[in-house]
Amino acid sequence: DKVATQFVQNDQPLTVIHDLSFHINKGEVVGLVGESGSGKSVTSLSILKLFKGTTGSIISGEIKYKGESISTYNEAKMRKLRGKQISMIFQEPMTSLNPVMKIGEQIEEIIRLHMPYGKKQAREHAVSMLKKVGISRAEDVMKEYPHQLSGGMRQRVMISIALACYPELLIADEPTTALDVTIQAQILELMKEIQRDLGMSILLITHDLGVVSEMCDRVIVMYAGRIVEEASVDELFNNPQHPYTQGLIQSIP
Ligand code: ATP
Ligand code: MG
Repeated sequence: DKVATQFVQNDQPLTVIHDLSFHINKGEVVGLVGESGSGKSVTSLSILKLFKGTTGSIISGEIKYKGESISTYNEAKMRKLRGKQISMIFQEPMTSLNPVMKIGEQIEEIIRLHMPYGKKQAREHAVSMLKKVGISRAEDVMKEYPHQLSGGMRQRVMISIALACYPELLIADEPTTALDVTIQAQILELMKEIQRDLGMSILLITHDLGVVSEMCDRVIVMYAGRIVEEASVDELFNNPQHPYTQGLIQSIP
């Protein structure tokens, strides 16, 4: 509700998102689109209090999860929420993989933190999640470090970690943009499958209107740090209101 996020740049406050207010219903897939720099990533990071701006940066406003304000949660409470209830796929995969831990250890750690699995079960679940995101040599990848993988592979690992504990809400920031089309389709299918099976909600940040029409129920459009349009996918495609959205729809070949 009315969330704003402010940086301090050259000692001057610079507000990058203004009076944002939106909600995501249970089981709903909401798309967040907007041009580069419009504030999509800052918005998604602000929700989970992962936003690290310059010193003195502030997030103001209230964020509620299941009716409860999480704005006042301390780091310990936020950590419990992240990963299990709300998980996130970052635009920059390296920001959340630990460079000095093997892939297997990283996935198993989060599984054991949130699921009632022993060591062997956690390992099996980790391997199966890696296979689900299209990593066929999952057993080998488990023993490798992030730097040994290609960018696309790291992104797939990130996605498997985000989905491993079947979160209630997934915030996915350009989850498949860096991946080739086949893998992209495979991952969107997996997200859809988990979404349907578990009634997971998704906030899906993307530039790709094809992805929006395939995945989303509703779309939020941001422009210069503000929400300028909010509509069902059909409404957005058939009757875009804001000039930015109109241009976007017209640019579809
Ligand atoms: P893209 O589509 O390119 O990912 P975006 O919509 O995700 O863009 P944001 O990354 O949210 O855009 O950035 C919103 C604004 O905040 C931009 O003007 C950006 O320059 C600024 N910004 C983002 N991160 C920081 C930071 N750490 N310090 C200062 N300014 C930042
Ligand atoms: Mg971004």
